[in-house]
Amino acid sequence: GKKYILSKAFSGQANDDNFQLVEFDLPDELKEGEVLCQAVYLSVDPYMRLFPNTEGSPVIGEQLAEVIKTRNGEFPLATLVLTKAGWQSHFISNGEGLNPIRFDLGATPISYTLGALGMPGATAYFGLKKCDPKPNEIICVSAAAGAVGSLVGQLAKIQGLTVIGFVGSEDKLNWCKELGFDHVFNYKSSNFGEALSQVAPNGVDIYFDNVGGDYYHTIINKHMRKGGRVLVCGSIQTYQDKDTRKYDATNVSVLMNELSIYGFMCYSYYEQWPIAFTEMNKLIQEGRLKVKEQVYTGFENMKEAFLGLFKGDNVGKAVVKTVNS
Ligand code: NDP
Repeated sequence: GKKYILSKAFSGQANDDNFQLVEFDLPDELKEGEVLCQAVYLSVDPYMRLFPNTEGSPVIGEQLAEVIKTRNGEFPLATLVLTKAGWQSHFISNGEGLNPIRFDLGATPISYTLGALGMPGATAYFGLKKCDPKPNEIICVSAAAGAVGSLVGQLAKIQGLTVIGFVGSEDKLNWCKELGFDHVFNYKSSNFGEALSQVAPNGVDIYFDNVGGDYYHTIINKHMRKGGRVLVCGSIQTYQDKDTRKYDATNVSVLMNELSIYGFMCYSYYEQWPIAFTEMNKLIQEGRLKVKEQVYTGFENMKEAFLGLFKGDNVGKAVVKTVNS
């Protein structure tokens, strides 16, 4: 098997030096109760930069794996499981932490269980719900062409909101327009504050924040309507920063405008995920919810796929498909 270990703890911007690809032997025989799994799709997500990664251990992460050898009756051959086995092409498990897919996928591709019908999908669905969206309200979403953002915008459109999205490239901008977002801006070629003032001169009702940093502070300070809600979903702009405390005025605006700022953790809703996925899968099959994946092929591309998240390389959900690995 192959695995990526964290060869050097993250500090500041993650780069090639943080990762090392190593090969390891797998035992010839399994013990009673064990299964051998092979990664089929691995997920790369921004949180992997943020959460503790121990030097020398496989980099943390979720994958969709197939049982390719088994001595455990609960997991017959060819069972597909979702599991947090980290960046490994193969691993042996006693069955603990192996989760079969908990809803009917139908004709939907299995890789979506890491994206629209997985952790990012649950984030979009329950995060938006937490914002208490109402028809005709205005929602602003950052990283709008990403795994979470693209779903947030589409779900908000379905619920009758006006959607404003910010993205980092023209391709992403065009895709979000195809998805029916009302206003989309490339923050690299326009000033997002000015753009927002133009299309929402009275401010927005909801800010679904995937980016943090400048966005978070500028939007809360200058672009929220009274009674507005802000969901702190992600803060990718600051994950690689050493100094994240440069703004203090924001709280004044929170106070004056009686804003509600919600912290959000998708796993708090874990028991309800299958309900969300059943609903979203129906929308996908009806063609009302569009999904894009950025598929990297080959286990050795894990690093590139992950580092790409911080450069904006991905449109939609970034996954790695492992072939012959
Ligand atoms: P994405 O698919 O959106 O990928 C990350 C995107 O972020 C990039 O493509 C890029 O898009 C944008 N980006 C990267 N660096 C910067 C930067 N410095 N400034 C502005 N934009 C940047 O990732 P996900 O959809 O998986 O995650 C989106 C956010 O949601 C992340 O912050 C993540 O941590 C968070 N999250 C939170 C969860 C929770 O439970 N709270 C669960 C899942 C995700 P662009 O080219 O448009 O800049």
